[in-house]
Amino acid sequence: MYLLTYIYDDKYNLGTLTKEKDKVIPIDVIYRELKMSPPKDMLDLIKTSNSTIIKKISNISGIMYNQAIDIATVKITAPIRYPHSDIICLGKNYADHAKEVMGMTSDNLGLPKYPIYFSKRANPAIGDNDIIKYHTDSMDYEVELAIIIGKDGININKEDVSDYIFGYTIANDISARRLQKKHIQWYKAKSLDTFCPMGPYIVHKSSLPSKINLDIQCYINGELRQNSNTSNLIFDIPYIVSDLSKNMKLYSGDIILTGTPAGVGLGYKPPKFLKRGDKIESFIEGIGTLVNYVSK
Ligand code: MG
Repeated sequence: MYLLTYIYDDKYNLGTLTKEKDKVIPIDVIYRELKMSPPKDMLDLIKTSNSTIIKKISNISGIMYNQAIDIATVKITAPIRYPHSDIICLGKNYADHAKEVMGMTSDNLGLPKYPIYFSKRANPAIGDNDIIKYHTDSMDYEVELAIIIGKDGININKEDVSDYIFGYTIANDISARRLQKKHIQWYKAKSLDTFCPMGPYIVHKSSLPSKINLDIQCYINGELRQNSNTSNLIFDIPYIVSDLSKNMKLYSGDIILTGTPAGVGLGYKPPKFLKRGDKIESFIEGIGTLVNYVSK
């Protein structure tokens, strides 16, 4: 099931895509059909739903074609526009990327022995087809698989992690490299306004294989720059969620960016940083493509 947040008739709505992905069925309509009160936003839906409700939504949306809206008539926003706290990120979680940036981001570490965690502000996260504000300070792209936590949990065992995941989406961890180097900590350089595009959809875990081995790519103006598979993560999804949850409670709606593969602008000699007007396509197999543009 593909869930999205969109604007239609000047109002924010939640919806689910039809099988052909060309139409949206409003969640309000589905919940009313199920005689349930509709969630007020995506965070509320994630918090209040469970696998039975998701199955019901999925089944009923298959027979509600007459209530669907053409996707071309809606404006898709980030699925979660205002995360309830800063986004948790992993640094250097693909070996080829760790090598390409060695010594360039204020440290000389090679492959991490333990996950490198940091956070990123998205206030708000921007959505599909939205504009990222140009920043002269060596702007870069990082396509990443985002985990959406579905259920509160602490000290989660690796074997139980999938129970705590709601689904997945695509994010691009836009970064200002010179700021990143200057401040040593990465927070500011990755938290500038519009630096967190996300979406277009949250794909519920039931629509993806249980082992998340998905192709992940980023194109700049049609040129393939990043090309990998999430099976190449140094610390995989069960490890990340279990490790993060040790003595630190995770909450439904938490967003975790799992890191980016090689091919970022900084990794090229000379670097290929983003320029005004560039088109960024962030693709993950089974989820879709998130398109963004750098402002002119
Ligand atoms: Mg990143």
